[in-house]
Amino acid sequence: MIIDCHGHYTTAPKELEAFRQKQIADLKDPAHVATKGTLSISDDQIRESIDKAQLKLQRERGTDVTIFSPRAAGMGHHIGNATTSLHWSQVCNDLIHRVCTLYPQNFVGVCQLPQTPGVPPTNCIAELERCIKELGFIGCNLNPDPSGGYWKDPPLTDKWWYPFYEKLVELDIPAMIHVSLSCNPNFHTTGGHYINGDTTAFMQLITADLFKDFPSLKFIIPHGGGAVPYHWGRYRGIAQDLKKPLLKDHLLNNVFFDTCVYHQPGIDLLFKVIPLDNILFASEMVGAVRGIDPETGNYFDDTKRYVEALRLSDEDRRKVFEGNARRVYSRLKTKLPASR
Ligand SMILES: [Zn+2]
Repeated sequence: MIIDCHGHYTTAPKELEAFRQKQIADLKDPAHVATKGTLSISDDQIRESIDKAQLKLQRERGTDVTIFSPRAAGMGHHIGNATTSLHWSQVCNDLIHRVCTLYPQNFVGVCQLPQTPGVPPTNCIAELERCIKELGFIGCNLNPDPSGGYWKDPPLTDKWWYPFYEKLVELDIPAMIHVSLSCNPNFHTTGGHYINGDTTAFMQLITADLFKDFPSLKFIIPHGGGAVPYHWGRYRGIAQDLKKPLLKDHLLNNVFFDTCVYHQPGIDLLFKVIPLDNILFASEMVGAVRGIDPETGNYFDDTKRYVEALRLSDEDRRKVFEGNARRVYSRLKTKLPASR
């Protein structure tokens, strides 16, 4: 079985975006009382949006299951207030649940959190519990910078986040560290802000001792870990200067990387530097890069090809494509039988 641990519903019917635009427009009217509102999308519309995109690509590329979450750039935690964020997250998570219900063999849900800059993440616990306990989701996307490129909240290692981490541990679910839209014009969303977010999160983790306090907390750093694998020597050296343990002991029992790296030399480097047990297969399709690489004639985000070109042993291949995901997303076992 091949599990893609990183996919977003980027092809949702246009009614979802219309809902969001109305929600944003309503914020301008001081007399408007915010309600969750309703989103009218039929099952047929969902099928059409999935069949021609994510499902078609799963079949063409030979993957089986996608761990699926709302569109990351669409989370927009900086927009409106905590109520805006809650209603929007509920609507997006409900839609993911519908996709997973229509295609239980192909998609397993991960939730968007109703984060808001300056609001403690404890505020997200109720929606997290709803998604895990009622909707059957297996993880969440945690935004380390709800301000969208201005980094106004405390670092991930601050006690600010601790009550939320306690809940992650209690529910036994991992968080993928994933920023949203950049509203800072210096940072292109997927080319700058995403990679900054990945790299910054890892560096924050080096400077503190978060996993002494939470030995079973699990984070996935997407997009191949940002700049981390390429600069592994720098991070090992900084950790050493800070008198921290070796990175493998300091972080690698808790931090995992995905394979959303869109060329062969990048994947080669990832696997050379990061222990295989810490790498989860992912493509983030349909996502940040949608074109075909003229150098190979294949889609940039067809990452399965790069992993297969590594010619891993059968055991290692099974770990990267399936076993590591099952270990990190421990609730997967309730959704997918051991093999099929
Ligand atoms: Zn993503």
